[in-house]
Amino acid sequence: MNTAYLLIGGNLGDRAAYLQQALRQIEALCGSISCASSIYETAAWGNTNQPSFYNQAVKLITPLAPEALLEQLLAIELEMGRVREEKYGPRTIDLDILMIDDKVEDTQKLTIPHPQLHNRRFALLPLAEIAPSPHHPILDKTVSELLVNCPDTLDVQKK
Ligand code: ADP
Ligand code: MG
Repeated sequence: MNTAYLLIGGNLGDRAAYLQQALRQIEALCGSISCASSIYETAAWGNTNQPSFYNQAVKLITPLAPEALLEQLLAIELEMGRVREEKYGPRTIDLDILMIDDKVEDTQKLTIPHPQLHNRRFALLPLAEIAPSPHHPILDKTVSELLVNCPDTLDVQKK
């Protein structure tokens, strides 16, 4: 079994309902969610002319290898009606793999740890709520330390 930390986010429609639906789909297709953070609201990153995001971090215990996990998550995104038009544009649901144990991968399809994790307060804050102590295998810092050192100043509010 692998322990994966995911970030679920969305900024279209009934955002809380989409998060719940995504959690159910992840449990149905990927494994067991042993812990979920509070929901956080964040101003849209990258492109600020769109609704704010809701984000939530979850701890997933999964038998799937990293590539298989990503495939399932992309299938859930598609099924939930994500329209990929604009980079950083609005989306019903975005499922990102933040970390999987202390695995390091960097292929065309998959980079873990997530390459932007340390730069995104909206990812680090929910992750630190459920998992402050895991070590980032490349940056050699805990999640709490990454949060303290994060340069991102976007406002992230617990709902
Ligand atoms: P972002 O999440 O950065 O806003 P996208 O969701 O549009 O961007 O990213 C799409 C692609 O990113 C996916 O098709 C996937 O192949 C790739 N990818 C690379 N690493 C990861 C990761 N750790 N988690 C999720 N997707 C990833
Ligand atoms: Mg994504």
